[in-house]
Amino acid sequence: MSKHFSRTELDCVGYRLVYRANEVNHCPGCGKMHWFVGRNSAECAFCGTALPLQNAKLPELTEWV
Ligand SMILES: [Zn+2]
Repeated sequence: MSKHFSRTELDCVGYRLVYRANEVNHCPGCGKMHWFVGRNSAECAFCGTALPLQNAKLPELTEWV
């Protein structure tokens, strides 16, 4: 599931933007979907925008139980 944000919506929810490992993630900077995913953050391969991972501080299995 994915959602496209308007500029106004981005301003409102920007602090909530996270990378969701089990979803398609559109870059808020350029709209592309290719990411370099690390342990705690994901970085856009095209423009370098970095997002925190949604479950960076939770056990990995939590999402799947
Ligand atoms: Zn980007």
